[in-house]
Amino acid sequence: MNDILPEESHVWEFFEDNVRDWLRAYGYRAIRTPILEMTDLFVRSIGAVTDIVEKEMYTFVDELNGESLTLRPEGTASCVRAVIEHNLLYAGPQRLWYGGPMFRHERPQKGRYRQFHQIGVEALGFAGPDIDAEHIVMCARLWRRLGIDGIKLELNTLGSTEARARYRARLVKYLEQHRDALDEDTRRRLHTNPLRVLDSKNPAMQAVIAAAPRLADDLDEVSVRHFAELQAMLRAAGVEFEINPRLVRGLDYYNSTVFEWVTDRLGAQGTVCAGGRYDGLVEQIGGKPAPACGYAMGVERLLALIVEGASAVPRRLPDVYLVHQGELADRYAGQVAEQLRDAGAGVVLHCGGGSFKAQMKKADACGARFAVIVGDDEAQAREVTVKPLRDTAQQVRAGLGEAINLIMKN
Ligand code: ATP
Ligand code: MG
Repeated sequence: MNDILPEESHVWEFFEDNVRDWLRAYGYRAIRTPILEMTDLFVRSIGAVTDIVEKEMYTFVDELNGESLTLRPEGTASCVRAVIEHNLLYAGPQRLWYGGPMFRHERPQKGRYRQFHQIGVEALGFAGPDIDAEHIVMCARLWRRLGIDGIKLELNTLGSTEARARYRARLVKYLEQHRDALDEDTRRRLHTNPLRVLDSKNPAMQAVIAAAPRLADDLDEVSVRHFAELQAMLRAAGVEFEINPRLVRGLDYYNSTVFEWVTDRLGAQGTVCAGGRYDGLVEQIGGKPAPACGYAMGVERLLALIVEGASAVPRRLPDVYLVHQGELADRYAGQVAEQLRDAGAGVVLHCGGGSFKAQMKKADACGARFAVIVGDDEAQAREVTVKPLRDTAQQVRAGLGEAINLIMKN
């Protein structure tokens, strides 16, 4: 779990500002849910036999009432729960987004943390491939907007629940025939979550996986058409993609379209964004049946790409460092600072005394564009001295109104 220090928080803010504008551009509204949920919600939605539920959740018993609670490991389950609880679909389909910390007890490594952050986007009540396409097209726009390139889109379809069941039976049969080549995890999950084997990163398993039967051969007609239409829409939008028949995703609730945005610049933790359809989830959690799809991006992984790619992440530096010395000046400086702020300036008021020279050093170091200097002389005359810090322009002494104009127009 990381502390995000002031030296890096400006990159987070740059990201968050962009994300907010971008979501607005597509008409998504924010939903904020508690970080704690009843454990059962995640077990039922993500699936009992998944990495997350089996070994990654921070689960504890609330001693006051004996309830089992879990720090959310992802956001879709909470979002769907809230939508059902507040009957939001009654008003029609919903475009929603959420953001914030998620918790998974994983082995920490670069790009994999125990508290990490996601921005998630969910569309509930939409059945057609048009919304799948919207989700993917909007991702592509965000990458452009953030100046990130080299992220590739991988796409697959898992078909209907029935198609998956047919495929599952074939896959289990095949895996049983190759039992000796399977790792321990896969053997254990052979009958509970066999599809996950396709997603295995274990090099020793790659040959067995490559020769495994293909989901594509079991697909239902509706999913095939949905997938074809989605691809046509992506081509029309100029979004490149690659079909990856091994892409299955690690959460049980997915069906039909699944996708991942991947990069080879982050080592093994190359997936920066992932999602797809989860048409059965709303009903499964207790709502009226409603189709849905969504995705979540890993903020830390995206930030790593931003930091690597662009040196130009803007820092929001103060406009003014206010330097003051003398009894009269100290009092006047506080008023000057407030008036500058009234005009919209960011002002750091020097605190703690010290010589003009020491204060000017601080003014230089903080990155402000101007030092505004107040001595007793200025205070008496109700004036200030404005010294530009980023260029060689001359300092000027002026009344406060004039000084504010000078600072705000530059
Ligand atoms: P992975 O295969 O990397 O474990 P996942 O399939 O478990 O990912 P999802 O549940 O789909 O991940 O979450 C969506 C995104 O959140 C991931 O693509 C990734 O960018 C990010 N993410 C997931 N787990 C972590 C983590 N422990 N630390 C940082 N980012 C994470
Ligand atoms: Mg994972």
